[in-house]
Amino acid sequence: MKDKMIMTPGPTTIHEEVRKAMSKPIINPDLDIEFYEFYKNTSSKIAQLLNTNNEVLILSGEGILGLEAACASLIEPGDRVLCIDNGIFGKGFGDFVKMYGGECVYFSSDYRKPIEIKELKVFLEKDNDYKLATFVHCETPSGLLNPAKEISLLLKEYNILTVVDAVSSVGGELIEVDDWKIDIALGGSQKCLSAPPGLTFMSISSDAWKSILNREKPIIGYYCNLAIWKDWYEKKWFPYTQPISDIYALDCAVTRLINDEKRYERHSVIANAVRKALNVSGMQLYPLDGWSNTVTAIAVPEGINEKEVREYLLEKYNIMIAGAFGALDGKVIRIGHMGENCTEEKVFITLKYFDKTLRKFGVKLKKEIHKEFVDNLD
Ligand SMILES: *Cc1c(COP(=O)(O)O)cnc(C)c1O
Repeated sequence: MKDKMIMTPGPTTIHEEVRKAMSKPIINPDLDIEFYEFYKNTSSKIAQLLNTNNEVLILSGEGILGLEAACASLIEPGDRVLCIDNGIFGKGFGDFVKMYGGECVYFSSDYRKPIEIKELKVFLEKDNDYKLATFVHCETPSGLLNPAKEISLLLKEYNILTVVDAVSSVGGELIEVDDWKIDIALGGSQKCLSAPPGLTFMSISSDAWKSILNREKPIIGYYCNLAIWKDWYEKKWFPYTQPISDIYALDCAVTRLINDEKRYERHSVIANAVRKALNVSGMQLYPLDGWSNTVTAIAVPEGINEKEVREYLLEKYNIMIAGAFGALDGKVIRIGHMGENCTEEKVFITLKYFDKTLRKFGVKLKKEIHKEFVDNLD
């Protein structure tokens, strides 16, 4: 049988070169000095993608580990933390904050719109006594992109540390950690980087390091404790045995991405064409504004069971797309066009059979989605 097309917003398709890199013979990542150089080199390629001179760590565990490690390492009991919430991941950050004893204050706004800077400004003028703030660059479940630059720069005006979940934007949307003054930017291997799931990575600013290393109370736990990584390179010591094969794959995937100079243009052209094609065909996008170029979330038409639509697409055409979860369960259908999946061919095939499937379920489409997609690729 033909390989399944995994057009979900992560995990994404893994290129053959990346799979091969993963199967390379291993060396001993604790004892072989060569591996410390390899790890450092992979980290600097990620730093290049994040546009930062900050230190980058790669941790063994997927995206969520990064979110939890940032909270565990920065938050001391009683610290006030601002959680900017206009989506499922934004809200979820608050759970980690509370878990580590932080006093979580939400700035919540419409889940169908990006954060309104003016409103955040008004909020901060009244109350800005926060040690750190968390927010999400791309809210994957709703396909929404927040103005990370403006949010981060505004928070820094009040000396608030910024922790940004950029798991589903890094590599597909521009992110400039240094210019935007992001203290901790978090990513994952399985989204736009198109490496196997299993790794998270993060850039850590000197302010964030200061805060992590000068706490009053020690960090609870080990795996989520970023302080244990201090001096790993100087001492040639890892806190635990590194998942060397995963890192081989990640290195290959990041190299492919940084060699693709048109990566942001590619994501933007394809995402634009997807949105236009859906709009003129009469489908509604879930976000009303601020659409991400890495994933498109479509509002499920009245009377349609999105699970049945996805099952049909998978069983009949071998194409997997996604629904969502939590508050958005049953409300959106998502097509991922990130990383290796962001190609005209893959998106065309997906839309062609998505179109057929929608018709099969009685959705009246005004145009043929895949044809409109091609016509709008400019
Ligand atoms: C994918 C993703 C994560 C990682 O979480 P998993 O769902 O466990 O893969 C974190 N944040 C965002 C915004 C994501 O898209």
